[in-house]
Amino acid sequence: MDAPRASRFVAADQPRGIAVSFEFFPPKTAEMEQTLWEAIERLAPLQPNFVSVTYGAGGSTRERTHATVKRILAETMLTPAAHLTCVAATRAEVDAVIGAYAQAGVRHIVALRGDPTSGAGAKYAPHPGGYSNGADLVAGIKRIADLEVSVSAYPEKHPDSPSVGADIDMLKAKIDAGATRAMTQFFFENDLYFRYLDRVRAAGIQIPIVPGILPVQNFKTTKTFAARAGASVPSWLADRFDGLDDDASTRKLIAAAVAAEQVLDLVDHGVTEFHFYTMNRADLVYAICHLLGLRPAKQPEEGAAATDRGALPLPSELS
Ligand SMILES: Cc1cc2nc3c(=O)[nH]c(=O)nc-3n(C[C@H](O)[C@H](O)[C@H](O)COP(=O)(O)OP(=O)(O)OC[C@H]3O[C@@H](n4cnc5c(N)ncnc54)[C@H](O)[C@@H]3O)c2cc1C
Repeated sequence: MDAPRASRFVAADQPRGIAVSFEFFPPKTAEMEQTLWEAIERLAPLQPNFVSVTYGAGGSTRERTHATVKRILAETMLTPAAHLTCVAATRAEVDAVIGAYAQAGVRHIVALRGDPTSGAGAKYAPHPGGYSNGADLVAGIKRIADLEVSVSAYPEKHPDSPSVGADIDMLKAKIDAGATRAMTQFFFENDLYFRYLDRVRAAGIQIPIVPGILPVQNFKTTKTFAARAGASVPSWLADRFDGLDDDASTRKLIAAAVAAEQVLDLVDHGVTEFHFYTMNRADLVYAICHLLGLRPAKQPEEGAAATDRGALPLPSELS
């Protein structure tokens, strides 16, 4: 008989070894803010390693990132990781953001070059007097404060990169500058990730390369994102969502099945850490984490003090 699949042994009472992080984007409206916080409340008891908040190019979206990160710090026991980019800002401006985060108690930054303000796909030109790319930004962060720094990685190579080799050179430069973890762009064929991992390890890179998992909340939007990000969308994935444009409930079941198949296969091949692109929605991610053996931490009994990370006070409990 074949050896049993590793993914069969991630039950809650097993030493699970599975670690997760959740990515959110800063909300634009009061309604979106409510959706985000419902998602955070639902996912927080799963005790992610950290939750990250993306960063946009314009001044108002930057403010929203800062506000969201600060609210996570103030109102939850979660560890926030603030995304930061080099786009449309001088070094001094970016340095001021890093300093403010460090002072506010943020200990983890996801350092990115970012996309041009005109959108992903347009040609990138560094701001004169700004940081030029991810590696340059990592070095800048490390000069200012001893923060944990995570960076991006691209199993299918970044669209600006002439080759996978050049892309891995950039990853190496980011690690040499002080990054200790990379989260990947999303992908749908696990072989792409494993092939990339082989090349990264062959280049002597040892840091965790955490797969970025995008549950397909909406197939059309996913296709648009993927085209901009240089991620391929296999035809079998299109087939699975084919004919379901007007059938949201079946789409959701299919999305859960697709993501479950992907993460359980990754576990079977030894992966124990996952970064979820939540799109500020909890339900699919929560279900997939459940399959991964994650269970909500027990809440303290009424009146008992919260003494460890098993007791996560949430906004609703604090008010
Ligand atoms: C996990 C994750 C989180 C993200 N979060 C955000 C976010 O919060 N906000 C946001 O705006 N975007 C975000 N992005 C998207 C990211 O900003 C874009 O992919 C951007 O185009 C590249 O940023 P980077 O940090 O990956 O770039 P880098 O790592 O600096 O570069 C990416 C690749 O481009 C090539 N390259 C870079 N500079 C040059 C150059 N000068 N000459 C030739 N080739 C070059 C290199 O091959 C390199 O590998 C995220 C991406 C990932 C994977």
